Amino acid sequence: MIDGLVPISLKELKTKESIKAYNFKGNLDNFPTITPIEGELDIEHKGDYLIVKGFAETTVSLVCDRCLVEYSERLNCNNHEYIWIGQSIPKKDQAGLLISCDEIIDFIEPDGIFDPAAWVFEQLHLQLPVSKICGKECQGSEILKENAINYLSTSKNMSQTDSRWDDLKKLL
Ligand SMILES: [Zn+2]
Repeated sequence: MIDGLVPISLKELKTKESIKAYNFKGNLDNFPTITPIEGELDIEHKGDYLIVKGFAETTVSLVCDRCLVEYSERLNCNNHEYIWIGQSIPKKDQAGLLISCDEIIDFIEPDGIFDPAAWVFEQLHLQLPVSKICGKECQGSEILKENAINYLSTSKNMSQTDSRWDDLKKLL
């Protein structure tokens, strides 16, 4: 829970007639980090849709896929999104749209509640690398290499029939 990053109802947002601005620093229970998550977030009610824009940064501890050693990685996100107010994402031909439907990626019901902490969580989560490598110099783990060699030598029959295993061996 990040102090001040409290959910706001769309009704409350609408009566504000301006931008709800959050300036935050803290930790999220469901997203462990080694430095506080810091950032800013603005939510603007535009009648038919919300404009949510903001940035967040933090440092996380990851385990390298290649050498299994822990390392830290800085995450930054800077994004803006249009969230449609309604029961679903509007159809392409819906009249009166001020923004392109392609830019609307989500919707929220008119009596719904916007959770800024969930938005920050989502944005940071998207920044996590798919392949976690500690650095360009990473040599990989001997244990992982041995396991791979053992696996390949016990899969001899496979290697005789499938030449792709030879390519794999060259990588070790
Ligand atoms: Zn590594």
